[in-house]
Amino acid sequence: MRMQSVAMTGKRFLVFGAHPDDIEFGCGAVLLDAAERGASIELVVFSKGEAGTHGSRSERETEATEAAKMMGASIQFPSTPGDTRVRAGLEITLMAAKAIRRFKPDFVLAPSGHLNQHPDHRETCRIVRDANRLARYGKTPGLEDLDPHASQALLFYDISNESCGSEGLTPILLDVSTQVERWTALMKCHQSQTGNVDYIDLQLSRARALGIQSGVKAAARLYSEGPLLLGTSESLRDVAGPRF
Ligand SMILES: [Zn+2]
Repeated sequence: MRMQSVAMTGKRFLVFGAHPDDIEFGCGAVLLDAAERGASIELVVFSKGEAGTHGSRSERETEATEAAKMMGASIQFPSTPGDTRVRAGLEITLMAAKAIRRFKPDFVLAPSGHLNQHPDHRETCRIVRDANRLARYGKTPGLEDLDPHASQALLFYDISNESCGSEGLTPILLDVSTQVERWTALMKCHQSQTGNVDYIDLQLSRARALGIQSGVKAAARLYSEGPLLLGTSESLRDVAGPRF
């Protein structure tokens, strides 16, 4: 039995992904950690990965649902143009903004928007970034039925190595050392995607390298667009700079 911390009790994460495995591979370790500390998590996935080389629409939905269960998260697959066809536009942006107004998250997470990656990832970044803004504006047409909501922070995660970093983004590292085993199991939920290329090893080695850099076993990288307020001097207590 793991120790249950209450440090994140009441905090809400709304996490967007383009395909059924994006979230688990990109920021699964962070979400497992937050869930263990009492956070509530909802996942919004814009496609069922139906255009992927491996796995059918229903297989991939089942895999994502299984993974969501491991995180204690709820998951929704809203109606969109689908895999390879996710593009920023008013309709999908308002749909994402409605999801934000309904769930009222403290943290909104989306893929980072680097150009050299699956276009659905990049577009999901743009959609969520705009949606997070429109969700807090008082009189956005199309959102009148729901109260405006301002999230505490919008954070971005990398799905593949190619998408690491982006101009204008501030990286933050989180210690996920205690989640490595469970994160591996979480990624293994996506069996249809892990057969040919060793995606799991790729993510684990990235987390390991980021961890070594900061003196912990494994670290996950998120980004903020602009500076984040850490809080008072007390928040500096656990901060660690690069060791090399
Ligand atoms: Zn993807």
